[in-house]
Amino acid sequence: MRLIGRNDLFLLVGLTVALFAIFSGPLADFLDFVNQVDQERGFRLLPGLVILAVVYIVHQQRKRLEMRAAALSAETDARQATARAIEMERLVAFGQALARSLDEESIRAAAAEHFPLLAGGRSLWAMTRTAGHWQLLAAAGDTVVTERERAARRALGEADPGVDSRKGDICFPMIVAGTPIGVLGVSREPPIAEHQRIAMAAAAALLAVSVKNAQLFHEVRETGVRDSLTGCFNRKHAMEVMDGELRRSRRSQLPLSLVMFDLDHFKDVNDRFGHLCGDAVLAAVGQQMTAVLRGSDLKCRYGGEEFLILLPDTPLAGARRVAETLRREIEEHPVRWNDAAIPVTASFGITAITPGEVDANLIIARADAALYRAKGAGRNCVRASEGHGAPA
Ligand code: GH3
Ligand code: MG
Ligand code: MG
Repeated sequence: MRLIGRNDLFLLVGLTVALFAIFSGPLADFLDFVNQVDQERGFRLLPGLVILAVVYIVHQQRKRLEMRAAALSAETDARQATARAIEMERLVAFGQALARSLDEESIRAAAAEHFPLLAGGRSLWAMTRTAGHWQLLAAAGDTVVTERERAARRALGEADPGVDSRKGDICFPMIVAGTPIGVLGVSREPPIAEHQRIAMAAAAALLAVSVKNAQLFHEVRETGVRDSLTGCFNRKHAMEVMDGELRRSRRSQLPLSLVMFDLDHFKDVNDRFGHLCGDAVLAAVGQQMTAVLRGSDLKCRYGGEEFLILLPDTPLAGARRVAETLRREIEEHPVRWNDAAIPVTASFGITAITPGEVDANLIIARADAALYRAKGAGRNCVRASEGHGAPA
């Protein structure tokens, strides 16, 4: 605390004048004494004392300035340390949110929540690249979409010729095990300090690991539930989904149908052209199913060359249309194998759930019986389960 402020100057001058008036007598005596000593001994006491006093005052003043500069620098350091602690806290919170995210949707949500805090008033965005295709993961603030992609491509060394790399957002590649999987970008304004660059690079690394984890988790889950040859769900997963769909249909009172089909004389294909050719036929049928069916329909490889299709929100008439379309698609597109075109046909059984029905096995048995009748009727045709109307 300063004892004497600017406003006390008047008081100080007054005090000095008063002290001078009070001690002018003794001061004059002291100066006489100094003069006398100077004359008797040949000293120059007065100039010496004045020099000493001036040196002392200048020294004190310098020390005071030094101390003030040290205090200012300590205050700046403390302020920066607090800012970095807050930055670190935000980074940790972002990392924790990402650690709770095992799929892309929750990573997007975590980024949307934490990006504005990490951005510090800048615009901040992240893009991922899968199979050469760029996709926006999250963004806070506004950057032109085409600019983002251009900056991201430049960051991964895919720059357009003639693009000035000093312009546009600052990019931090998201790299996992040496492979770039995306880019985190931040606008240049307000200017970004070195420690903020480090924080952004750390955020990019956290995001990269999390995105890669989610991708791997998705792949592992898909491998566990899908048949790799046809891309259909495996039987176990299909039964779980079917149970869920049956309960949903009972609640919503919406129709639900099941199609079961089996390739005709498939053993002959294996016997005549070999198992690899048989596999190619199964894969082609998987692709034809994807082409014909909706994304919400459940495709399942039930057994060797036997498939199930669950059609949510679809009555029997719709199931008949789907089965007929797929039957024709298979019949009209022989599978190419070496130089041969392998003709393929399939027989279909269809059924619809009756209101309140929840036993998946009973429903499958009904579709199976209808399929058996389609085989009996000469194959390459569609049959509905008993009590569900005449064949198409
Ligand atoms: P149908 O018209 O009565 O259905 O006659 P089919 O020959 O299709 O029926 P069958 O049950 O006699 O033969 C099915 C064949 O499917 C026998 C089996 O070797 C073959 N198969 C099952 N799974 C696969 C597979 O993953 N790859 C190959 N290439 N063949 C398979
Ligand atoms: Mg068969
Ligand atoms: Mg069969």
